[in-house]
Amino acid sequence: TEELLRKTEKLNVAGQLAAGIAHEIRNPLTALKGFTKLMCNANDESKLRYYHIMQEEFNRIELILGELLILAKPQAVAYMPYDTLLILNEVIQLLNTEAIMNNVEIELVANSILPLVKCERNQLKQVFVNVIKNAVEAMPTGGSLTITAGRHNSGVELAFVDQGQGISEERLPRIGEPFYTTKEKGTGLGMMVSFAIMEEHHGRIHYQSTVGVGTTVTIHLPAYT
Ligand code: ADP
Ligand code: MG
Repeated sequence: TEELLRKTEKLNVAGQLAAGIAHEIRNPLTALKGFTKLMCNANDESKLRYYHIMQEEFNRIELILGELLILAKPQAVAYMPYDTLLILNEVIQLLNTEAIMNNVEIELVANSILPLVKCERNQLKQVFVNVIKNAVEAMPTGGSLTITAGRHNSGVELAFVDQGQGISEERLPRIGEPFYTTKEKGTGLGMMVSFAIMEEHHGRIHYQSTVGVGTTVTIHLPAYT
């Protein structure tokens, strides 16, 4: 019966996720349908306006599907030994322009020589992208994001410390829920995907936050053996 229960649970999760996806995609689709109709009889000025809105709606669908596709990873996933600092540095490079534009300074501090971790490189990169983006987005008027990397037991511990608006205790458990977002243009998929990736890596991800002070996201990854 336990196995049966697990299967039912999985079906429930799949059903909820499917409902969520359907809902999130249907909204922009409905808008697109409406604007296509309006396009027919619109003057040039209105057409241009509709055209821009439609582009936004298309982008929205693309964004949601893009995030979901990360979960539908290719068949052959290659877990290899990697240096987390190298991957982190790459991600910081990637996001630095966006951070600077938001007056956010990203600093990486390594406390010790780190063991290699066993990971699927692109997926781990995605987790770092999601966590760092959230930190930057939590500091709309700027601030600093300090990333410390050190050893924990035989593995790696990374702490992402931001000075953002923080997360209240009631909201904390909702992080990672599909489509849970507090942002106007958020998808609420970033952390769900990240939690799933961390689980596959036998790692852990933990949130600690104080409203008005900031949030610390801690990630543990086992060493490559
Ligand atoms: P999205 O970024 O699209 O909203 P995520 O799954 O990445 O979706 O994050 C879900 C929610 O968790 C965010 O909308 C935000 O409310 C909260 N959150 C995540 N990280 C942080 C952070 N560092 N500081 C404040 N809030 C955060
Ligand atoms: Mg996010």
